[in-house]
Amino acid sequence: MKSIKTAFVAFFILMSAGLYAQEAEQQAEQKEGGHLNENKFRQLYQEFSTPNQYRTGSGAPGPAYYQNEADYKMDIELDDKNQKLTGHETITYHNNSPDVLEYLWVQLDQNIRSKESVAKLKDGNGIAPVAQPGNFVSEYMQEPFDGGFNITEVSADGKPLKTVINNTMMRVDLPQPLKAGEKFTFDIAWWYNINNHLEDRGRSGFEHFPEDGNNSYVIAQFFPRMAVYNDVEGWQNYQFWGNGEFALPFGDYEVNITVPADHILDGTGELVNRKEVFSKEMMRRYEQAKKSYDKPVMIVTQEEAEAAEKGFSDKKKTWKLKAEMVRDFAFATSRKFIWDMMAVDLGEKDVMAVSLYPKEGNPLWEDYSTKVVAHTLKSYSDHTFAYPYPKAISVHAKNQGMEYPMICWNYGRPNEDGTYSDRVKYGMMSVIIHEVGHNFFPMIVNSDERQWGWMDEGLDTFMQYVAEQEYGEKFPNDIEPHTKYPSRRGEPSKIVDYMKGDQKYISPIMSNPENVYQLGNNAYGKPATALNILRETVMGKELFDYAFKTYAQRWMFKHPTPEDFFRTMEDASAVDLDWFWRGWFYTTDNVDIGVSEVKKYYVTDQPTKEGTELLQRYGVEDPSSMDILYVVEEGSEEFEASLKGKSPAENSTTLNEYLMDNFTPQQRADMKMPKYFYQVTFNKPGGLVMPIIVEYTYADGTSEKVTYPAQIWRKNDQEVSRALATDKEITKIVVDPDLETADVNVNNNSWPQEAEVDKFQEFKERTQG
Ligand SMILES: [Zn+2]
Repeated sequence: MKSIKTAFVAFFILMSAGLYAQEAEQQAEQKEGGHLNENKFRQLYQEFSTPNQYRTGSGAPGPAYYQNEADYKMDIELDDKNQKLTGHETITYHNNSPDVLEYLWVQLDQNIRSKESVAKLKDGNGIAPVAQPGNFVSEYMQEPFDGGFNITEVSADGKPLKTVINNTMMRVDLPQPLKAGEKFTFDIAWWYNINNHLEDRGRSGFEHFPEDGNNSYVIAQFFPRMAVYNDVEGWQNYQFWGNGEFALPFGDYEVNITVPADHILDGTGELVNRKEVFSKEMMRRYEQAKKSYDKPVMIVTQEEAEAAEKGFSDKKKTWKLKAEMVRDFAFATSRKFIWDMMAVDLGEKDVMAVSLYPKEGNPLWEDYSTKVVAHTLKSYSDHTFAYPYPKAISVHAKNQGMEYPMICWNYGRPNEDGTYSDRVKYGMMSVIIHEVGHNFFPMIVNSDERQWGWMDEGLDTFMQYVAEQEYGEKFPNDIEPHTKYPSRRGEPSKIVDYMKGDQKYISPIMSNPENVYQLGNNAYGKPATALNILRETVMGKELFDYAFKTYAQRWMFKHPTPEDFFRTMEDASAVDLDWFWRGWFYTTDNVDIGVSEVKKYYVTDQPTKEGTELLQRYGVEDPSSMDILYVVEEGSEEFEASLKGKSPAENSTTLNEYLMDNFTPQQRADMKMPKYFYQVTFNKPGGLVMPIIVEYTYADGTSEKVTYPAQIWRKNDQEVSRALATDKEITKIVVDPDLETADVNVNNNSWPQEAEVDKFQEFKERTQG
């Protein structure tokens, strides 16, 4: 037995199906000769590589997955007077691949600062109409800074190796091919001039403080680093042009860094000679910090740092650091550093949250830095895996926001009198969350930043948003009372301007960082927002969080590709998302969904033209021979006012008799008797397919929210209609009422159209005038 509602709905479906059949034919005609299947729900088979033994169709590493490793032993010396760094390293490269390697590629990223750097000639924008004096002078008036690597030795067993340098890459020819499972050990010695990162920019360098004559160093990309060799690329061969960051293999590091004796230094790894470099008092405080879970303990106080600023010791001290399973190494050193630490309980173990900052960072830094580091480690660990390294350091460096394993540089400097705006405070907290968060993506989930900026920046910015919101909930006194944490990115509304902007200046997320117009929106904002929408609106938090965690755990300490992420998110949730990846990641389409038409219908026994025609199309020549009821649109020629206000059984004898013949009085009493029948049409000027979130408001003031899945667009990409049977009259329809989808045009989101409000406004203005 059919319920009355399904009977009606069936009619509407029959009607729409008829309309659809017509439209589909028309569309097919328009696309005549068009053999490309452009359905937005087709699978991504053409875009994805074929799964294999290394990477499976589930998105997990395959049974033959491998990764090569590079271990480093380094001796580094900083010449603080001349801002020069000298180093010697012994690299042991492990060939875990099944391939024979005839040569190795080593990355010389500092060569982007050499006088001959081709990267300086890469842009074709002409003259800038405005410039800051400093930039103008360095661009047109000064000799370029010479900061490239000077390689003084490449050898194995004391014998020189043949090398060829191609810009930022150096090929090392092997004495004999390196077979699968073998390792090769060789030495490189070098020096280079360290850049002032405030004048010459860059992710590494020093800041000079003229008041006290000191430098503060944040040092990275300072040693020749092995390139990645893998099943996807062979040798990673995309040069360092400046925008795309780094692709690096994992390995173990033992690094001895010699600096002036009055410097404070920290870096990637555990300090193995703490007793040699710490005073007794520092040791005592350190032991205290390891037990302090609620607030940081000062290892070096501001008073002590200010005293050290005046020292300029001629003596040297060597700090020895050791790290396992890291993809890189960086350190910070200065006699200006204040140092604080606290312990973070991550369940299985404790790790240390650490901050290094000159007095110029206070009071902001002593109040928030280490607290934010600790929160970030907890929040990210909850959503991915327990942070596996022993510590995470936040270093204050003006204008910097840059990440390395266990250490990162962060901006956020108060005014000289110590005051600071909310913008500086939240900017500082957010950059710390972001850069500490990079420990997870890409330092541990080790994606190729050189090729795919979004895999680290997008995932990290998404997690940053989550961690920021959690910070606001956990520490409401640290933010404006009764508000959410003011995240700069992540909320759907924040990406609208970018997505509706000039298509000429938008690139798909699946682009190389060198080739995009707006790296911030392209690699950070849009993917972060897409994932936030995926979590909150498309998949729901439970399914999303499980799948996201599965991805993080599958690829922890490994090298994932975009497909490994896309596939895992589907595999672990049973949500087919090919349409979502295709639209949000492979195109520059945006979301624009509106409500275009609302029609109201009544039930009648009186045959309508449209109904009769439809029946004929389905082969019913004489409808009067069957029990048929019709629906008629209010206001159409065939509509009679007497139908209004009555139930369908009152308006149709056919229906009434059917009910009497087939149902008991009790069954009839239990049935719904909707008085209003609507057809609501939604249109989609935007290219992206998305769920339609609709709020229906009724005459009695109640409302309900319905979400139609994105699949509603699978057979018609422009317009879809839904039938609704209700007891109450609909007075208002709003699409995406809570602005969850980054809809770029909300003018078409309401029925009745906002235009009527404008008319009302006009009327008001006229009468007032
Ligand atoms: Zn980042």
